[in-house]
Amino acid sequence: MSIATQIQNIQSQLPEHVTLVAVSKTKPVEDIMEAYNAGQRVFGENKIQEMTEKYEQLPRDIQWHMIGHVQTNKVKYMAGYVAMIHGVDSLKLLLEINKQAKKWRRVIPCLLQVFIASEETKFGLSQEELLQIIHSEEFKALENIKVVGLMGMASFTDDVKKILSEFTTLKHIFDYVQPYQLPNCHFTQLSMGMSGDYKIAIECGSTMVRIGSTIFGTR
Ligand SMILES: *Cc1c(COP(=O)(O)O)cnc(C)c1O
Repeated sequence: MSIATQIQNIQSQLPEHVTLVAVSKTKPVEDIMEAYNAGQRVFGENKIQEMTEKYEQLPRDIQWHMIGHVQTNKVKYMAGYVAMIHGVDSLKLLLEINKQAKKWRRVIPCLLQVFIASEETKFGLSQEELLQIIHSEEFKALENIKVVGLMGMASFTDDVKKILSEFTTLKHIFDYVQPYQLPNCHFTQLSMGMSGDYKIAIECGSTMVRIGSTIFGTR
């Protein structure tokens, strides 16, 4: 099926409050333009250099979401244009994003990544670490970032019960921190769900699904 058809299929299945992030990592700009012409405006990339090259070539009304692990020394390359950073997993990284955003006089929306899978390779904070960050005085002083929610990845498995349980855990953490509000912290977005598990994620309360291979294929 064509990219445009896949975008329309998925969009038609999503509840109104759920945002589709089309994950275009490794895909050429032609594929992104096909999705763009089908109406898609939010795209996700996991490498800063690749995202920046695409940003420079593609229409300016695209919202670029960084969904991959972010190295502190690379934040400066995307701070001028990135629409949201999903994988924030340390206070140190938040401090750097804040510093770079300030140079551009902007506020960068961020999601804190929480570790929910049983695999050791997945990045993310524990619930305790998350609470430590948002309750710290250092965090409260940051004026050029805004934490708008949480992000998580379930284990890579066919075991639906396991995925359900991991997404449910993340939703519980989200509900727990949701009432906590500061000028730079307001939890409204829950980024969970990929090609293989986005339907389960939506059942569990996702507001943002990150879908790559179902849209663009796996070539
Ligand atoms: C690649 C990637 C996705 C999309 O995965 P698909 O299975 O291709 O839909 C979603 N989230 C993150 C963090 C990714 O790296």
